[in-house]
Amino acid sequence: MIFDPLEKLEKIQKIVCNGDQRKYYRFRISKQYAGDVTADCVGCFLDCAFCWSSRVNSRPAEIGKFYSVEKVFKKVVETARRKKLHRVRLSGGEPTLCIEHFTKLIELFGEKAPDLTCIIETNGILIAKFPELAKLLASYPNMEVRVSIKGFDEESFERITGAEGKYFWWQIDAIKILLKHGAYAYCATMWETAGPRGVEKLMKTLLKHGVDGLELECLYRYDFVMKRIKERGIKLY
Ligand code: SF4
Repeated sequence: MIFDPLEKLEKIQKIVCNGDQRKYYRFRISKQYAGDVTADCVGCFLDCAFCWSSRVNSRPAEIGKFYSVEKVFKKVVETARRKKLHRVRLSGGEPTLCIEHFTKLIELFGEKAPDLTCIIETNGILIAKFPELAKLLASYPNMEVRVSIKGFDEESFERITGAEGKYFWWQIDAIKILLKHGAYAYCATMWETAGPRGVEKLMKTLLKHGVDGLELECLYRYDFVMKRIKERGIKLY
């Protein structure tokens, strides 16, 4: 059944956010972005068929532990220093979901670790809702925002995420707002679910809104992901 992601947001926030603390389920070193330290948070208000963290995000009450902003910062930065890595990343669920935690964490990375590039992988919807987040991200030169766009129009967004199609446009708004404020931000979308026509349609939409460039993401073909894709009748390219 199609749901309103902002209604779901409130329910998930009650489970995974506690003041300036947030639930995380994993801290890891990844080979992405030529090597980074990733903090994987718990919880998202979309339900993407291809989500590799769907098994965590579907059980937010059972999985993960609460971490303060300082603890996440210390854990990630100390690992980056020890392993001589220059990038840190917020991923897993939706990093912006616990607004207070996210805001304070960005301020810490921006002020206390300006030499580390901080990559935020987001669906962008809360940046469209709270444009002050874009302003904050733009105020630190070490922030890199990857807006991972789900679908290429309202209909494909709805099929992929399970959420109301109108929110497709919130992702487009997010990248526009980020760029307007001068943040280092770019878009990505999944090739396998968009195909050539979907990618072309999305690129045209982005260009129409003054956004140039689109990165293509690859599908991680885990068994549980393939099952969800099949159940939703999503065609793969
Ligand atoms: S927006 Fe990202 S974290 Fe949320 S369900 Fe989709 S893929 Fe998963």
